[in-house]
Amino acid sequence: MKKKPSPKNGHRYAQETKLIWGEAYTPKWDYSHHVIPPISSSSTFRLDSSQRGARGFVEFAHHGEDFRVHTKEPIYIYDRLGEPNKDLLEENLAMAEGSECAVTFASGMGAVSALCGILLGSGSEIVAHRTLYGCTYSLFKNWMPRYRVKVTWVDFTDLKALANAVSPQTRLLYFETPVNPTLELIDLNAVAEIARSHNRHRKHENMIHTAVDNTFATPFCQRPIEAGIDFVVESLTKGLCGFGTDVGGVVAGPSWSYDRLLMYRKDFGGILSPKAAWPILVYGLPSLAVRFRQQMQNAQVVAEALERDDRVRSVRFPGLDTFPQRSLAHVQMHDYDGRFAPGTMVYFTVVGDSAGERHANAKAVVDFIAEHSYTLTLAVSLGSIRTLIEHPGSMTHSSIPPERQLEGGMDPGGIRLSVGLENPDDIIHDLREAFEHARISKLKRGNGQSRTHRKAVRRGRLALS
Ligand SMILES: *Cc1c(COP(=O)(O)O)cnc(C)c1O
Repeated sequence: MKKKPSPKNGHRYAQETKLIWGEAYTPKWDYSHHVIPPISSSSTFRLDSSQRGARGFVEFAHHGEDFRVHTKEPIYIYDRLGEPNKDLLEENLAMAEGSECAVTFASGMGAVSALCGILLGSGSEIVAHRTLYGCTYSLFKNWMPRYRVKVTWVDFTDLKALANAVSPQTRLLYFETPVNPTLELIDLNAVAEIARSHNRHRKHENMIHTAVDNTFATPFCQRPIEAGIDFVVESLTKGLCGFGTDVGGVVAGPSWSYDRLLMYRKDFGGILSPKAAWPILVYGLPSLAVRFRQQMQNAQVVAEALERDDRVRSVRFPGLDTFPQRSLAHVQMHDYDGRFAPGTMVYFTVVGDSAGERHANAKAVVDFIAEHSYTLTLAVSLGSIRTLIEHPGSMTHSSIPPERQLEGGMDPGGIRLSVGLENPDDIIHDLREAFEHARISKLKRGNGQSRTHRKAVRRGRLALS
């Protein structure tokens, strides 16, 4: 039977089309019969001779200079080493990110820790942006020092401070953009250039690598590798899966890292299950463009409505005219056709005279939503077709001490909203209802501190702002 034709036949197919069909023909799957690749559910693989088995082990993670992931027929041995569903997903993720390779892991954190595992060793140093997703912060703060890896925290929006923070031991510059949850942006080109300028004087083994957590934007809105960043890590659980059904993570990067990542995954064991790879491959990636286009439009409408609401103190969404880093957003956030792509995440702060009052108001809003809202759901995670809302200060980012949260731009009254596919007017209705019932007093003037705040300060939980 003839193979399905590959997309390389003279016409330049749109990325959006390729997210649906992938490489079409791949030696990792026989597409001659199936339109949809079946779920491969086999922990081990039949080897037709001991010689083939031995060759499989020799070739595993030894692509070396002869890097032909996309053309070489693999010898499958055992799920933890590699199997067709993950391999197919990885081919398509590399295509989506514009990277030479991609390796999947059991979760986003599995991907972040694997990247650290292959790049860092005792005595080396990470320079990280001061605000990060809570579990990444905890990994860097609580675990890296046990491996004698030092972490230096810097504000990456201050490029001078970043350049000065680099030491001879620095091996990794790590950040998110947009930052979870503040939606602060970091200049991809500028960080890549700082690494390049330091690397001019360094030996290969001492090189500084750059890595971006691209979970908020997804490759549909931003492709950091095209901007000169070495590695992208991403939680597949979020926008890439899109339906909230599966957990996974990916590291996308240069071909030299492929063997190391495979070896690391084999030995540390954090593999993505083929049963989780499959829905991301079959539903998540093919629908990414259409989901995100609509969710971004909804996020724009919701963000504008929040901005007009006098119970809202501030709104951050890269698509708003008032977004403080609007021009940077336009430089680095665009879809495959070059259209501005501000993402689906909104961060807003409710009013309140003091940090403590805003904290109390945010919790009241979120609690009302948890009990009464139809379109909004109090839940962590993001990028789903269902709108999710949470209070990062006490939930996803609670591992960051309150005073560090404030320093990093996280207001105690900050609320993170992941806008889904519902009608945006319904989302706005439910938000307004929550503001109304949470009895947030409109723009109260004066500087009297609330009792909650005084109590919080006495307990040492909040810094004064
Ligand atoms: C959720 C998330 C992660 C972790 O991903 P998991 O799949 O939950 O392990 C990492 N970074 C960011 C920005 C996230 O939002």
